[in-house]
Amino acid sequence: SHVFDRKVVVITGGCAGIGRALVKRFAQAGAKLVILDLNQEALASLAQHLRDHLNVEASTYVCDVADAERVAEVFGQIIQQHGGIDLLVNNAGITHRSTFAQTSLSVLKRIMHVNYFGAVHCTQAALPSLITRQGQVIVLSSLSGFAPLLYRSAYNASKHALHGLFDTLRVELKDSGVNVMLVCPGFTATDIRKNALVGDGSVTNQPPLAMGKVLSAQDVAEAIYNGAIKRKRLLVLSNVDWRARILAR
Ligand code: NAD
Repeated sequence: SHVFDRKVVVITGGCAGIGRALVKRFAQAGAKLVILDLNQEALASLAQHLRDHLNVEASTYVCDVADAERVAEVFGQIIQQHGGIDLLVNNAGITHRSTFAQTSLSVLKRIMHVNYFGAVHCTQAALPSLITRQGQVIVLSSLSGFAPLLYRSAYNASKHALHGLFDTLRVELKDSGVNVMLVCPGFTATDIRKNALVGDGSVTNQPPLAMGKVLSAQDVAEAIYNGAIKRKRLLVLSNVDWRARILAR
């Protein structure tokens, strides 16, 4: 498909996991990639990898999506450099594994600032351009956006907040030509759990529920790529019985 050929695709948290798989998938489709992440070395090594293996020249920006001023500055530069944005994927996200009682306020806030306000900042900065180009905005939620995962109070809250925002945006932008897509993957093999802000070993995982195959980052990226071509509004990649999570309470 040539849908994304030469289109400007901005991916946050693009250096690892699902974001990195998305970068590669859209690069293969001929998109002009713009990658935001926290760390200059990781961005430089990804850019080098794309040059060596896919002959693709990506733009990279060091950007903490929680930092509203930095996001505004970066999106100004992206629009100046590329003339606009066709697709924004709000992928950057962090988690924790700790009871609410044992989680500091600073961690609870940081997760909301990255997962929820990160998407707010980037979407607000990209929206005028997305409207001009009749583009798309995608956000990585999770099955946790429907059914809370135990010991992830802040993570669950941030994903529920994203559902509130994106379900509203979808209706508000109905006549604008901009597609709004929520993506809700189940368990995916990435480093997100290793990167958890609080990984409290004393907190065990919830009792196991029927679980299908663990997704790979490539599985999720392929599904998002195909969903974007079809301009889908909701993508649920369920490998756990998330309804049972609610009923088990
Ligand atoms: P990951 O930890 O493997 O990668 C996250 C990337 O985002 C890293 O490159 C990291 O540096 C970057 N990042 C983190 N904070 C950032 C910030 N403040 N600003 C800019 N970049 C930042 O995570 P992943 O598993 O690939 O998760 C990606 C998204 O998918 C997240 O929103 C996550 O909630 C969601 N998700 C993951 C799973 C899963 O099981 N892995 C399931 C459902 C949803």
